[in-house]
Amino acid sequence: MINESGSNKATVTSKPITSLFPQVSVVVPIYNEVESITSLVETIASTLRETGLDYEIICVDDGSRDGSTEVLRELAALRSDLKAVILRRNYGQTPAMAAGFRYAQGKIIVTLDGDLQNDPADIPKLLAKLNEGYDLVSGWRKNRQDDQLTRLLPSKIANWLIGRATGVELHDYGCSLKAYRAEVLADMNLYGELHRFLPALAYIEGARITEIPVGHHARRYGKSKYGLGRTSRVILDLFTVFFIKKFLTRPMHVFGLFGLISMLLGTGFGIYLTVIKLFYGTSIGHRPLLILAVLLFLTGIQLLSFGLLAELVMRTYHESQKRPIYRVREIIGQNS
Ligand code: UDP
Ligand code: MG
Repeated sequence: MINESGSNKATVTSKPITSLFPQVSVVVPIYNEVESITSLVETIASTLRETGLDYEIICVDDGSRDGSTEVLRELAALRSDLKAVILRRNYGQTPAMAAGFRYAQGKIIVTLDGDLQNDPADIPKLLAKLNEGYDLVSGWRKNRQDDQLTRLLPSKIANWLIGRATGVELHDYGCSLKAYRAEVLADMNLYGELHRFLPALAYIEGARITEIPVGHHARRYGKSKYGLGRTSRVILDLFTVFFIKKFLTRPMHVFGLFGLISMLLGTGFGIYLTVIKLFYGTSIGHRPLLILAVLLFLTGIQLLSFGLLAELVMRTYHESQKRPIYRVREIIGQNS
């Protein structure tokens, strides 16, 4: 693997040669999780050591300002199983995870949160399930320990919507604890909140997907980085994923359907107005409400289509630019 400075020389620190290509990479996005990091890394490490698999842990520091960076720096300097990827600023969970995927070398990639809410003890279960012949195993927080109203309800709605829109019905898209065969993630271009749609995106590409129940703990330290605002962003991203799926194959089916409905409605209103004018002599010049409704409806469709087109253009832009959605300041550990 070529590192940031462009050199691929093996350094002298004695490390078993196999660890250059670990079997499992555990990717953890970290944004202000200073109290949790040490114990999280230790628990992940001891769980994976028990499996006998060769592993690496990749913690991506997403612009933390609470001392997480320093803790990661110290840990990564001490441990041969930990690499710390320090981003230049806070980019968000999706870019942080994308950065982790970029530096992960394992054939299998496991993701989990850095706040001790996911249980590393579940990792072997995910790996066992993956071995049954799946490409992606997603965790399902059956007993999720988050606030009912602000978190559980919106995510129930979001999970249902994503399931309906993508055809991949999972109970818990938002669960970060997931295991992937690395090739599933290889060509994924992520942005926005897309990390949570990875199962749907992978499914579109033909991946075999399943889910298993996993544990979940209440946040012990710090507080969630998200509020209700994220739900709306997730729902907007959902449109994109749905649209990509349909648009890439049948663009006319998407636009055509809206166009057809709008045309039929317009024709219907037109016929209705003509009939009452011709046969009942009613004046139709005084129906502002009707005109407003038609106008709003048509404008809505136009805006939606434009929005979706803009999303596609954005996506094309991201992919054509090959411009990263994050920038790395420094990589520490694992002979970086
Ligand atoms: N996170 C991140 N960048 C951000 C926000 C969050 O890397 O801008 C990380 C965070 O440190 C945690 C994970 O993403 O490891 C999930 O965040 P959080 O626990 O706040 O979300 P919740 O569990 O409440 O959905
Ligand atoms: Mg959390």
